[in-house]
Amino acid sequence: MRRWFALSFLALASLGPLRAASHEEEVDLGMMTRIREEGFANSKVMDTAEQLTDVLGPRLTGSPKLKEANEWTKSQLASWGLANAHLDPWGPFGRGWTLEHVSVDMVAPFRTPLIAFPKAWTPGTGGVVKGKVVRVSLKDQDDLDKQKGKLAGAIVFVNPPRILTAPDKALFKRYSEDELTDLAHFEVSERAPFNREEFLQRSRFQKKLRAFLAAEKVLALVEPSDRDGGVVRVMGGGSRVAGEETGPTSLVMAAEHYNRITRLLDEKKEVELELDVQATFHDTDTMAYNTVAEIPGTDKADELVMLGAHLDSWHSGTGATDNAAGCAVAMEAVRILKALGVKPRRTIRIALWTGEEQGLLGSRAYVQEHVASRPEPKDADERELGFTRTRGPLTPKPAHAKISAYFNLDNGTGKVRGVYTQRNAAALPIFKAWLEPLQDLGAETVTNRSTGGTDHLSFDNVGVPGFQFIQDQADYGTRTHHTNMDVYDRLQKDDLMQASVVMAAFVYDAAMRDAMFPRKPMPVDRPEPSPSPSASPEASPSPSPSPSPRD
Ligand SMILES: [Zn+2]
Repeated sequence: MRRWFALSFLALASLGPLRAASHEEEVDLGMMTRIREEGFANSKVMDTAEQLTDVLGPRLTGSPKLKEANEWTKSQLASWGLANAHLDPWGPFGRGWTLEHVSVDMVAPFRTPLIAFPKAWTPGTGGVVKGKVVRVSLKDQDDLDKQKGKLAGAIVFVNPPRILTAPDKALFKRYSEDELTDLAHFEVSERAPFNREEFLQRSRFQKKLRAFLAAEKVLALVEPSDRDGGVVRVMGGGSRVAGEETGPTSLVMAAEHYNRITRLLDEKKEVELELDVQATFHDTDTMAYNTVAEIPGTDKADELVMLGAHLDSWHSGTGATDNAAGCAVAMEAVRILKALGVKPRRTIRIALWTGEEQGLLGSRAYVQEHVASRPEPKDADERELGFTRTRGPLTPKPAHAKISAYFNLDNGTGKVRGVYTQRNAAALPIFKAWLEPLQDLGAETVTNRSTGGTDHLSFDNVGVPGFQFIQDQADYGTRTHHTNMDVYDRLQKDDLMQASVVMAAFVYDAAMRDAMFPRKPMPVDRPEPSPSPSASPEASPSPSPSPSPRD
């Protein structure tokens, strides 16, 4: 404390009027003013977001649409004057998949349209097909034995109806001051231990189930959305591994429509659906690409400050809040710095990741290739679990010592309310100093907690400081996360402008400070790593040790 005080005193004494010092951390307030001016008066963030969502559309990893988005972001960054804009390949990822058409009608007891979307990497119906709805349980081998020979041509509803109670949560939410104060208090997170056996069994049963459904010639599988109000939350199913059984067409239906059909079945009515799903698998390019570009540094050009977000999305909406928002903000942050003619000391590198939704695959591959590598898992179980390079001895590459910090944005459209230190206590006073001139924008909370679920973990996992911001939840959890309503209209312009200013400020501060960003000790092998969501299409994203955000 005393040392800080002394340094702070010296810093204040030696600085001009445009600089403030909090502890020993200096912030160029003149530059903060210029960043704010460019970010609020001349913002392009919504133009970028519109291109990514309305014009380019959904960006599922492996799809031609995502490759187009890679090319567009590369060109856009280059047109703003960034250097070395390129696509960095990784993979092989597996098969691509594009949804072209879906229509689902109930045709008996009478005709009416229904809201449903297919899971990615499941096949289309090959034209208009009709089938009777049955509701059966397919949870274990006993269920499969019981249903053998009975399901040919059927549309199988596998879940019970969802009980929809009166909504008890606001659809759109911002952090209250009390909640931010709570978040700033450290909490020992109690993470449920990962059950390796259970995970393996579930993943193997899914494979067996797909083979069973295909052999039984089941027409389609339907499950209810876990959101309501017509919002369909749908991710992947089937398989993206070439040659692997995909199972039948698999749909997620609006909960209200799903429930209605289950009630008709309970009334002993015969329910028939007409389905037309057109989906294409792509097998020509099994690689995936991260978009990368730079603002070259000056006296510390060999050191890096990185920022990014993931470019890939799910397919039923246009991936607006997850995560065109983060990409548009990160791109806007570097556009602002370029527009101001900033000459950073360290090189600023933006990376727009892909494969995030399948388990942070693009950022992990980038880190493995360029930053620090771990051996491929030898154990077949580990490979099946998708423990791709999160454990095993770490071999740092030269870049490992040169990346000062990585800043990520991936919690929706909400403005930045602060930042997680990822339990790096040395980050706390630095972030507090950086946030001071941004407090009036609502960004003021620093928490020593960790947050998970997105690409900063790929850096944090190898001992490079990787951070994710605290963002207002907005309607991420209630309406947009992985849903058909994750579209442009759900983006909040003022929030995204604010986030762009904060991100530009953080990246600038990190690029200009004298020393590299302080690090935590190198990670030791975790005995129970969290599995990659890619290991099973039914798996949920890696559990986050912190309460709110989702990737
Ligand atoms: Zn995301």
